Order: sequence, then C-alpha cells, then structure tokens
Amino acid sequence: MLVTSKAILEASMQAYKAGKPFAIGAYNVNNMEQMQAIMKAARETQSPVIVQMSRGALKYAEDKYLRNIILAAAELNPEIPLAMHLDHGNSFETVKKAIDLGFTSVMIDGSLMEDSKTPSTFEYNVKITSEVVKYAHDHGVTVEGELGTLGGIEDGVGSGKEHLTNPEEAAEFVAKTGVDALAISIGTSHGAHKFKGEAKIAYNIIEECRKLLPNTYLVAHGSSSVPKELIDIINQYGGQLEHAAGVPFDVLQKAITCGINKINVDTDLRLAATAATRKFLAENPTKFDQRDYGAAAREGIANEIIAHMKAFGTAGHTTDVPNWGLDEMKAKYQGK
Ligand SMILES: [Zn+2]
Repeated sequence: MLVTSKAILEASMQAYKAGKPFAIGAYNVNNMEQMQAIMKAARETQSPVIVQMSRGALKYAEDKYLRNIILAAAELNPEIPLAMHLDHGNSFETVKKAIDLGFTSVMIDGSLMEDSKTPSTFEYNVKITSEVVKYAHDHGVTVEGELGTLGGIEDGVGSGKEHLTNPEEAAEFVAKTGVDALAISIGTSHGAHKFKGEAKIAYNIIEECRKLLPNTYLVAHGSSSVPKELIDIINQYGGQLEHAAGVPFDVLQKAITCGINKINVDTDLRLAATAATRKFLAENPTKFDQRDYGAAAREGIANEIIAHMKAFGTAGHTTDVPNWGLDEMKAKYQGK
C-alpha cells in the first residue's frame, strides 16, 4: 500500500511518545532485484518501509522504470505500508519532477547548494526548503529538510566537510520552513568509511533536537553499519575494501531511544549485493546467467534488510501506520 512517509514516520513518533521507540529504515533502491529484496524483508518481518531514490538512481534506471517497479511492489504487497521518497533533492525542479512522477515523499537538501557539494547559508536553506514545502504540501507530499552537513561523499552528494547541527538553529529552521522531517548531522557520514576509530555520534544533539522539536521526525543519514562479515566475504572473493567502518547497531539503537525516527541505509545493501555476487560467481565459475547471480544478490540484500528491520525495532509495526496517502495528507495540510 503506497502511503506518505509522514504516515509511516508518525507510527515511529507515537511509539517514541509511548516509551517504546522504534525507527523506520529508509533503503535506497536502483533496480528490480533490490526492490524485491526490500519487500521480501518487509513481508517476513511485517515492517513498514520507506524506499528512497537518489538522483543517481533515477538517472541510472531512467526514473520511469524505477517508479513503476515501486508501484508494482505496492500492488503486490497491499498489506505493507510503503513510501516512495526522493533522497537528497538538490533543487526545486528535481523535487517537482519527483512529485509529478508520483513520489509520496521528498527530501530537499538545502544544506548544500544546487551542485550538491558547496555548503549553503542558513538563509538559502530556509528559502529553498520553504518553496519546496509549499509545493509538496499542496500535493500531500511529505518533506524532509537537512540542517548541518555530513562528512563523506556518496552518489556525488556531500561537501566532504562535517558541520554538526545546532539544535536551536534546527528549531528556528523548522518553524520557518514547515518541514515534516529533518535530517540532522550527528557525526555520521556517507559511504563505507565513516570512522577512523570507534564510532562516536552526538547523542546530545539528538536529545536536544527531540526536546525542541517534539513533533518533527528526526532523520539520521550516513547510518549504514558496514558489517565486517560482508567486507570479509568481498575481500575473500577478490574485492579490495580497506578500512571500511560504519555505525554498529547498538549505536543506532541508542540513537533511536534518543529520538531518531528514520535511518537511511544504502551502503549496507551495496555491500550485501556485492558480497553475494562475488561469492556466487567464485563458487560457480561456469554460470553466466544474470538471473543466477541476480537471485544470489537479491537473497543477500533481503537478509541484510531483515537484520536492520529487527535491529531498528520496525518489525511487527505494519498495522500501526495510519492510512495517510496523498489525498488524506492534502486535506490535512489544508486544515480540512
Ligand atoms: Zn544522505
């Protein structure tokens, strides 16, 4: 069932307020096998799910292929609340295009300029985000903004410089823009090399944002776990990934208790697919049917997502999601 991400995130918020917090994983998707893996994991664990596409994904899969794969997933899985989200929209035009394609949720990342590299000013961020909120809410679409910048670069997004979020500025930003969700910079970074030493994130920033913004969904980007088992398999079968490090599940679980509602996961799915494909091809040197290693990758991704859904506490929450599609939200935003 296709819903807005506000519907799904509200289930997480209500659980937090009831003292039983859990988070929603938002998984990046680029092709059919990944989408099938996400839905398999969601069915097996009965988890609501947000799938998100970067501009790179929409370019790779020629946006309409991808949009229709997700609509197929919604049709085949009516019991699973599913939101279609644009990750790191860089301009009003990019966001408008996604909404016109039928996305139920968008991110406008005004923490960076349109080139997705240069850090912007607070004023620029407020202006672009407000424009997007107006257009998106007129269409019932949920909006995620970002304040502060993450380290690391993925899919061409990132300044490479980290600037942690100031909670008071975050409160001002939400008041001025009306965003539904806010990505905050808490020390995580994009990509497979997040930390040199121990994974450290700024729990106090989450707690203060949660206190100052009791009704805004808080989002953690750059939060893949980069499991050592997957890195070892990749390297065992010919890969060369060194110094890879992510955010362990126990660190993310603490972030959830502090008030994080949405956790973005991309790198872990890439690692799972690569590990499964490399292993399959190494162990089956005579096979050359794309369906064989595609199925192995799909299985590997599904298992990785099941682990995430259990760790984030998302499992078992499908029936807690209100039925807020675009029409319901359009009416709500108009105050009807
Ligand atoms: Zn991100």
